[in-house]
Amino acid sequence: MRITIFGTGYVGLVTGACLADVGHDVLCVDVDADKIARLEAGEIPIFEPGLEELVTTNAAAGRLRFTTDAVSAVEFGTLQFIAVGTPPDEDGSADLQYVLAVAETIGRHMNGFKAVVDKSTVPVGTADRVRETIANVLEERGEALDFEVCSNPEFLKEGAAIEDFTHGARFVVGTDSERVRELMRECYAPYIRLQEKLMFMDVRAAELTKYAANAMLATKISFINEIANLAERLGADVEQVRRGIGSDPRIGYHFIYPGCGYGGSCFPKDVRALTRTAGEVQYQAQLLEAVEGVNHRQKQTLFEKLERAFDGDLAGRTIGLWGLAFKPNTDDMRDAPSRTLMEALWRAGARVQAYDPEAMDECRRLYGERDDLALVDSREAAVQNADALVICTEWKVFRMVDFDWLKQQLGLPVIVDGRNLYNPETVRKAGLLYFAVGRGDSL
Ligand code: NAD
Repeated sequence: MRITIFGTGYVGLVTGACLADVGHDVLCVDVDADKIARLEAGEIPIFEPGLEELVTTNAAAGRLRFTTDAVSAVEFGTLQFIAVGTPPDEDGSADLQYVLAVAETIGRHMNGFKAVVDKSTVPVGTADRVRETIANVLEERGEALDFEVCSNPEFLKEGAAIEDFTHGARFVVGTDSERVRELMRECYAPYIRLQEKLMFMDVRAAELTKYAANAMLATKISFINEIANLAERLGADVEQVRRGIGSDPRIGYHFIYPGCGYGGSCFPKDVRALTRTAGEVQYQAQLLEAVEGVNHRQKQTLFEKLERAFDGDLAGRTIGLWGLAFKPNTDDMRDAPSRTLMEALWRAGARVQAYDPEAMDECRRLYGERDDLALVDSREAAVQNADALVICTEWKVFRMVDFDWLKQQLGLPVIVDGRNLYNPETVRKAGLLYFAVGRGDSL
């Protein structure tokens, strides 16, 4: 099939590379000329395991091409995927300007039947707005061309994007058109062994499914963090509680790891956007508001623990920081707990000495050169002459530590572990003060 993909970010590029890899002819288009030039030169603008190889091999085979030319891109594919960003507006609702700009472009340049596929995460009712936009442009042009708009939300997660795309739980397609169903069947056929995996539903249900999925996962995280905060105050170990509840198949072990809050490009913005959508239909989404509130509070806890450890005086202290990305296997720092922590530390007059296996460039891009931030090139350098260590991201490289050695590096010596990586007893035996999340050690 000939497939056009608008937007070569995480979602667009992974979708394009994966669809090319199963034999489709894919043209990826982006307004960012620099990004397209880098992709054409074989350079991958984001860190995502396995993506570079997938892009290079399929580009070399001629099945995956890149362009900034929207006219040829609209002409190319029968399927026109929209995978552009939907960042939060000032009021938290999803900003649809990029999605609607693509709709306008498609309407402007189409010359025959097109099936437009919304892959971006968009509020319920967006497919109607995309349809209207295209119809208006066609009317202006005086053309009566046939087209369809469907919803095909993406469930991949950064860090495991290719695996999620190729072996995900399902492909959701919202449409009432048999013609679109046929096209989408053909598009995803190489991935479908079980027919149930390709789920057709109404457009609005598909749009809401994406938000519901992310809101559910965010709810699980805020729920366990709430229990962790209680455990901390009650002298219970939340890790034992986690095992105790996870063993119940109705609850399960997934997504109930206590931590320093969720971040990234999706959960915070999607929970907020769904809360906003609820407001628009005069419904107060109390649970969603609480999920966001608990998460906001959770991100402050690392700083609060440090503050208590240093009797409220962090001025002039150096804090070693392991992990900047919002989760392992990505360089993404959008809404990352590390940012809340660093910004609070700087306000308190402390200095940060940080290491992350992938997110150093991103951190430099976000904060630039500053006296109170040293980005160092190893976990060892991050704790050298530091007063305390904080762990924000559970990268594998932080899991095994010689605690006797660590004690010698740290001034106080305090570890604030936002990811519960260690056995508290082992750490304390080495003479370190260990403050994890919900492990009965309220500071
Ligand atoms: P991104 O910001 O990484 O990439 C978006 C790309 O779209 C950019 O390269 C931008 O230049 C391009 N773009 C903007 N306007 C354009 C236009 N008119 N024509 C062509 N290209 C244009 O975004 P992303 O993380 O890939 O997310 C895309 C959508 O998918 C969002 O709605 C997001 O919520 C959703 N989503 C993201 C993830 C994720 O893990 N990142 C997972 C599932 C769904």
